[in-house]
Amino acid sequence: MQTKLSAQFIDNPKGQKAEDIIQSCVHCGFCLATCPTYQVLGNELDSPRGRIYLIKSVLEGNDFNQDSIQHLDQCLTCRACETTCPSGVKYGELVDIGRELIEPKRVWWQKLYRNTVRLALTSPRLFNIVGRLFRHSSIQTASLIPNEVKSRVLLLTGCVQPTLAPNINHVTKNVLAKLGIEAIETKQDECCGAIDHHLSAPESALIKIKDNIDHWYDLLESGIEAIISTASGCGVMVKDYATLFKPEDPYYQKALKVSNKTQDLAEYLSEKDLSSLKPKQTDISYHAPCTLQHGQKLPGLVESVLAKLGYQISSITDSHLCCGSAGTYSIFQPTISKQLRNNKIQHLSESNPDVIVTANIGCLMHLSKGTAIPVKHWIELLDS
Ligand code: SF4
Ligand code: SF4
Repeated sequence: MQTKLSAQFIDNPKGQKAEDIIQSCVHCGFCLATCPTYQVLGNELDSPRGRIYLIKSVLEGNDFNQDSIQHLDQCLTCRACETTCPSGVKYGELVDIGRELIEPKRVWWQKLYRNTVRLALTSPRLFNIVGRLFRHSSIQTASLIPNEVKSRVLLLTGCVQPTLAPNINHVTKNVLAKLGIEAIETKQDECCGAIDHHLSAPESALIKIKDNIDHWYDLLESGIEAIISTASGCGVMVKDYATLFKPEDPYYQKALKVSNKTQDLAEYLSEKDLSSLKPKQTDISYHAPCTLQHGQKLPGLVESVLAKLGYQISSITDSHLCCGSAGTYSIFQPTISKQLRNNKIQHLSESNPDVIVTANIGCLMHLSKGTAIPVKHWIELLDS
């Protein structure tokens, strides 16, 4: 798709990056079939191709209105379109740039609302007070330490997960300890920057990201084997750190090392001998987060680890579609979000499972509000 950048964007690096991405789109429309918002709303402007046209129009200097902003807001950033696209269009990067470009035109009350939510979620002191009211799971078991430490990893704590579901990282540390791996947790205020980044606050995101890179790079240099994420939404952000810097930027090489050393928990455990772990068998249904299957491009990974642990995983109808959580989407777009959740719960419940498991705190919290079936992080199946 050819784009003629307006004078305003011609020397703007983000404008140039967006132009490169748009040029790779051949407007074939294959992505429409797997876009959840196109399925729900049936409007081309709520499809990946339609949104690419909208961003192209902004870059070419055409005026846009509040409807255009809404079409971009209604995108889940689930990146299912990237998985489907035969031309490798980096839609996730493009929509983030598009949102940044339109942000100044947002009406004042939307800016205020979005900034309030953003600050509440990314300020641990504030969130620890409010978030406790919504706590999903508490720690039930004692902490284990490895008999013999064979290696050390850095475990990403996350900014909301320690308040909402502290059991997830607790069980993770215990499972790793049984395998002889010591997990050192990051501090809660070492937020990955994803919430700022996706809510058009790139400067705030960059401050957090650079602080993290400086600190985690030093830990990697001192012998930490890997950076492990138990929330795929944080994992995909850290894996994308290097894409935020130009190769000549002094942070690029350090960011690349941090990104390359980051693994989802399932990715890390898939390379380990898990035969010593004997989880209690139960009927489960698995929801694959978009940030894992489309963002990190790791479809089927958790399923393979669960199969190694003895669980039977039945296939879920429309497993490629988002559950409607999508970071802060469920807060800002509650109607579409609820509709997607109802569809997802229906498909996850078809096998009549005892437990629904997933791999991201956002999906876990969102799904658990729509069903009486317990919803857990898959690692919590090993909680004993
Ligand atoms: S599938 Fe890819 S190339 Fe085709 S319209 Fe969608 S984004 Fe463009
Ligand atoms: S990221 Fe998801 S919701 Fe947004 S255009 Fe792509 S498939 Fe549709």
